[in-house]
Amino acid sequence: AKADGGNQFAVFARHMRERAILRGGLQADLRNAIERGELYTVYQPVVGLLDDGRIDRAAGVEALVRWRHPLRGEVGPSEFIGIAEDCGLIGAIGEQVLAMACADFARWRRQLGANAPRLLAVNLSRAQLNQSGLCERVSAIMAANGMEPGSLQLEITESLAAQGRDIQDQLLGLKALGVKLALDDFGTGYSSLSSLHLLPVDTVKIDRSFITLAATSRHHEVLIEATVKVARSLGMNTVAEGIETPQQAAVVSAQGCDKGQGYLYSRPLSGAAIEQWLITSAP
Ligand code: C2E
Ligand code: CA
Ligand code: CA
Ligand code: CA
Repeated sequence: AKADGGNQFAVFARHMRERAILRGGLQADLRNAIERGELYTVYQPVVGLLDDGRIDRAAGVEALVRWRHPLRGEVGPSEFIGIAEDCGLIGAIGEQVLAMACADFARWRRQLGANAPRLLAVNLSRAQLNQSGLCERVSAIMAANGMEPGSLQLEITESLAAQGRDIQDQLLGLKALGVKLALDDFGTGYSSLSSLHLLPVDTVKIDRSFITLAATSRHHEVLIEATVKVARSLGMNTVAEGIETPQQAAVVSAQGCDKGQGYLYSRPLSGAAIEQWLITSAP
């Protein structure tokens, strides 16, 4: 048994060492990626859920970052956002993403007319909210791209939204610019319906884990219903994340969610592909 345990530890240690090397490698590569323009954005539609069951395709899009790694191919944000936060690169990445997304959004506004999305959502990490000067940089990027303040939505996660005074001030600074705020992944972190009123957010995004179970679990349907009611009473609107089936769409619609996002409508698409999606007049 002793030999076995030792062996298991050796395997574990090797695994940890490999992970550390992988992270170290990615960290070095990430520095170059920013300079070489290997990061790019894809866009997922956030549709309006209309009363008659149809969708509003022009409600908005969410920008999601991707990395075209020269050797590994496409790398997703779950693999490198954490690393970027740890090594101080998240600010530069966040600004690059915001600038690229605002430039694309401005182009759609010029070229697509009534089919252009009305809202651009961009994710903001906790580390970015801790940095001073964030509001000034956001404001400068918006101005450079002719962005109307009300058409930008920055998304924060609830664990960070629940934190101290500094973050609250930073959020209020963004609100003062006219930027909309959304609480991402609602239901997964520490804050709850009872603390929603403490946050200066306009929108609550109900986490995919609730939507996945909504069509089969009455319990989750009730939680969605309660979230929509509380959000509404606070003047906030709601987005259901990760809708994959028509049944899930029907449930969240019936419970009053204003908007929906998920593979049912579209996976995240390249800038060119989402233009096609936006001008398609299917229901
Ligand atoms: P998120 O903000 O909650 O974004 C939604 C994620 O769910 C995206 O994954 C999207 O591709 C995925 N998704 C959307 N609809 C469905 C669905 O119907 N089913 C399933 N299974 N998944 C769906 P992605 O692009 O891998 O992003 C993961 C997370 O990485 C994001 O979660 C966000 O927290 C973070 N992230 C992405 N882009 C950025 C960025 O530019 N900056 C920062 N700070 N974080 C980002
Ligand atoms: Ca988000
Ligand atoms: Ca989310
Ligand atoms: Ca998420």
